[in-house]
Amino acid sequence: MKQSSEVAVVGGGIIGSAIAYYLAKAGHRVDLFEAGQIGSGSTRAAAGMLGAHSEYKEFGALLYSFARTSQQLYEEAEADIRALTGIDIERRTGGLLQLVFTAEERARLSDICSLEGVTWLDRAAAEKEVPGLTKSLEGAIHIADDVHVTPAIACRGFCSAAKISGARIHAFTRVEGIAKEDGQYRIQTSKGEWQAEYVVIAGGVWSNALLQRIGLGTPMYPVKGECIAVTNTEIPLSCSLFHDQHYIVPRNNDELIIGATKVRGDWSTEPTSGGIHRVMEKARQMLPGIDKMPFLRSWAGLRPQTIDGKPLIGEHPEMKGLFIAAGHQRNGILLAPVTGKMICDLIDGKAVPEVWMEAFRVDRLHTDEEVLM
Ligand SMILES: Cc1cc2nc3c(=O)[nH]c(=O)nc-3n(C[C@H](O)[C@H](O)[C@H](O)COP(=O)(O)OP(=O)(O)OC[C@H]3O[C@@H](n4cnc5c(N)ncnc54)[C@H](O)[C@@H]3O)c2cc1C
Repeated sequence: MKQSSEVAVVGGGIIGSAIAYYLAKAGHRVDLFEAGQIGSGSTRAAAGMLGAHSEYKEFGALLYSFARTSQQLYEEAEADIRALTGIDIERRTGGLLQLVFTAEERARLSDICSLEGVTWLDRAAAEKEVPGLTKSLEGAIHIADDVHVTPAIACRGFCSAAKISGARIHAFTRVEGIAKEDGQYRIQTSKGEWQAEYVVIAGGVWSNALLQRIGLGTPMYPVKGECIAVTNTEIPLSCSLFHDQHYIVPRNNDELIIGATKVRGDWSTEPTSGGIHRVMEKARQMLPGIDKMPFLRSWAGLRPQTIDGKPLIGEHPEMKGLFIAAGHQRNGILLAPVTGKMICDLIDGKAVPEVWMEAFRVDRLHTDEEVLM
């Protein structure tokens, strides 16, 4: 017998979990289907930086406003998740230190310095902020609002808060097909059939399989990222260190997360010795003492990358009630709250900025090719 839901969310990464959270809080009947464990995809691998400003060069003004909104939403989500579930998503408020090695680099990054909450530090001031920092700096940009969270815990936080607000969470339940029948969606899962009024596909890079079946081609490809963790008991570090897309991020438990490589089109999730070597080399240039810290573990994850670098967020142009929220590439942790809220507002018929609707249109990248590089 078919079971029924109002909104079926496909995927229990940070994006699906945030969507379930905002929908359940708004009073919708939500069922979330996750093929594996909650948060076991790209989310598990992430460093968790909420880098609205440090990604400014890549984002441009439009994505910056979207990212900034999300950064601000994290503040209230953190408090609400804690109140509802007792989970601390480990939002550390030390900000981010973007290292600058040359005068040319400083000139290139000058527009970031004009953003709110951003301060230029000369070399002496940067060294004072982080003892043990490399001596070969021109200076550093301190970004107060580019804080970070622990992604797996944040994902669990959104999911648990959604559950307490009425959502049903179905882990280890794969969605195998979606079809429209008599005005409702029929959802075939590995554990039986469901029907729902609305469906949201939030399956990260694996969304391609479902998108292809609903005529949207395969608009995403994986960008593999490899990371390692070491134990730090020596250097007091409250901020993240960032340079040239590489970073060192401190966790609450004395771990430092060091990342990450970018390997386009690689679907494997095993870290390689070459990848580990490359991230260590970059980390050593930032914080030479990292070499002596005990090694803990390494891992890899797949960033869901779209061809034009922007996520797909919105309703299918022909299949009304079918939404997509995927392709957040290396900023899905940052963009989860604003994505969750945007999907909820769209389902509720509330206003969403027109520029976001247009920029994230889900049919803009239509292609039938298997893997796009
Ligand atoms: C090394 C690395 C570092 C990163 N660092 C950061 C960072 O510092 N800050 C930041 O903002 N972002 C970061 N990211 C990016 C971020 O991890 C991703 O953008 C984000 O996790 C994407 O979330 P998602 O929910 O879309 O995808 P995922 O986390 O991959 O979740 C998708 C889920 O959907 C499930 N699924 C797929 N298909 C189905 C189906 N048919 N049925 C049921 N379930 C299905 C999968 O099992 C998976 O669990 C990083 C990524 C990597 C790899």
